[in-house]
Amino acid sequence: MKVVPIFFPNAGCQYRCVFCNEWMATMKSFPKSVTDEIYKAYKFYHGDENSELALYGGTFTAIENWRDILEKSHKCVKKLGMRGIRLSTRPDEIKDVDFLKANGVVSVEIGAQSMCQDVLNASRRRHTAEDVQKAVKMLKNAGIKVSVHLMTALPKDTKSKSLFSSFEVASLMPNGVRIHPTLVLKNTELEQKYLNGYYVPQSLKEALDWVSDMIAVFLNGKILIERIGMYQDAETLKNVVGGPFHPAFGEMARSMLYRKYLILTEAKRVFGPPRLRSQIIGRNRDLELEFLPSDRIIVEGKAGKIAFDEWLLKYVHSLKEMARCDL
Ligand code: SF4
Repeated sequence: MKVVPIFFPNAGCQYRCVFCNEWMATMKSFPKSVTDEIYKAYKFYHGDENSELALYGGTFTAIENWRDILEKSHKCVKKLGMRGIRLSTRPDEIKDVDFLKANGVVSVEIGAQSMCQDVLNASRRRHTAEDVQKAVKMLKNAGIKVSVHLMTALPKDTKSKSLFSSFEVASLMPNGVRIHPTLVLKNTELEQKYLNGYYVPQSLKEALDWVSDMIAVFLNGKILIERIGMYQDAETLKNVVGGPFHPAFGEMARSMLYRKYLILTEAKRVFGPPRLRSQIIGRNRDLELEFLPSDRIIVEGKAGKIAFDEWLLKYVHSLKEMARCDL
């Protein structure tokens, strides 16, 4: 499935979250004509019948004339023969799911960011964890797919809280999740906190540790991880002033989880699908393990053969013990 995005940066947002500067994150401005913008994007991204139009940026369902924009977008989508619309919005702004459904919305991306109220408050999110639960249920009941976004290392966040958020989100069984380590963007409140020494961004190493464990929770819950780490091109990267950015962050985080598996099982040899070779041992070359092709991921370790799935189940159980929120 291909995505053809158009952007409404910070549109519909009544408040600014501490970390957010959508204009700088996307380098786009509110479209003058939604219809023209859709046709332009369709051409630019080589849209086809397998593409979804994405209405991204801001809080789409809180834009003053969002219903009008959605109806226009739906007409274009039908004319172009695309398969539907996805949009991103806040959990407390999901109101009329029937209208969404009737106007071609097949998927909604909910910005949850955390399921711990103190983290949400410190990030000026101005919604609750219950809003996320309600939004996911409403959309799922209406037959609309839901993807939930989580961030790590927002103000007041800890590894235990990020894990707690992951378990909470996994229990809602969304169709997918996206995990973004917090980056400090120019012209945000977080940048001021960072410059004044009140916010310390995560190191790359720490972000990989947290996110690899969050991946474990979602893999174990059989929930699709759609994206890990924010995409930045050369232009938008200039607006990142701090934080654990790496262009291959997602690949590195997945490798980190395998690294934990290989080390904790004291692996001597590892079997796995060739397409995962680079994730399993490519970035863990220093462990000097032999890799043999197999359908399943299995290691031969100190305690004999241990399949990744079985190890993951136990590992996630140990993570559950660490997961907690200070309320
Ligand atoms: S609701 Fe979303 S788009 Fe709006 S300020 Fe917060 S993070 Fe940015």
